[in-house]
Amino acid sequence: LRFEIQQAEKLRIMGQLAASIAHEVRNPLTVVRGFLQLLQSDQIPAEKRHMFLKLGIDELDRSETIISNYLAFAKPQSSRLETIDVAERVEHAAAIISSYATLQNVEIKHQIAQGLYIAGDPEQLSQVLMNLVKNGIEAMPNGGTLHMNAYKRGQNVKIDIIDNGVGMSEAELERVGTPYFSTKQNGTGLGLMVTYQIIHSMQGTVQVKSVPGKGTQFMLTFPQNEKNALPD
Ligand code: ADP
Ligand code: MG
Repeated sequence: LRFEIQQAEKLRIMGQLAASIAHEVRNPLTVVRGFLQLLQSDQIPAEKRHMFLKLGIDELDRSETIISNYLAFAKPQSSRLETIDVAERVEHAAAIISSYATLQNVEIKHQIAQGLYIAGDPEQLSQVLMNLVKNGIEAMPNGGTLHMNAYKRGQNVKIDIIDNGVGMSEAELERVGTPYFSTKQNGTGLGLMVTYQIIHSMQGTVQVKSVPGKGTQFMLTFPQNEKNALPD
């Protein structure tokens, strides 16, 4: 009987994992589709064309990384632990999502302090930022502004992602981040589950403030790491 329960639990987790992969790989696919759509036009200057192609290829590489990341979740010790340059990751996320944001009439503004370093896997932080930014954009069906701010507070590095979208009710706020909670037609409710999991694995915390009709603020806090220092 015990063996059967273990098998059932394993199957349940495998199912969740598969659904998560499908969900996460859909993000970069959406972005690549956006770039290809833009490239259909003959009027795109060569330098823009190059940039779209490069970002598109980056995103396909990222899908591959996401899949390996999820496989790494099965054995967490295999995920990379290094010093992450936060500014680089925030700027990268903003660049990757820019075409999708433009299509949705969303302006992304980022304000990043210099010299912010934390410990963890850079690809996983990118995944966290992309999930939060994508949710922010999806919360603004009529367009708006999305702010990404990164700064130092005491011994911590903070990253805030702020939208002026639909917001969440108290009841929604309570369920946010729990598996399968989604208010979207094609949502999976796995994006934030994975996001929270990654943040916690990096010794980070998440706070959410939201006002229905006004917008939502996700506030991440990570312990600061010295540049080039080996993480603990
Ligand atoms: P999905 O995006 O597939 O629905 P997520 O785990 O990414 O799954 O998000 C879960 C739910 O949390 C969303 O369906 C939405 O109801 C809520 N949510 C997340 N981010 C925001 C946001 N920025 N503004 C409003 N609601 C949000
Ligand atoms: Mg989502």
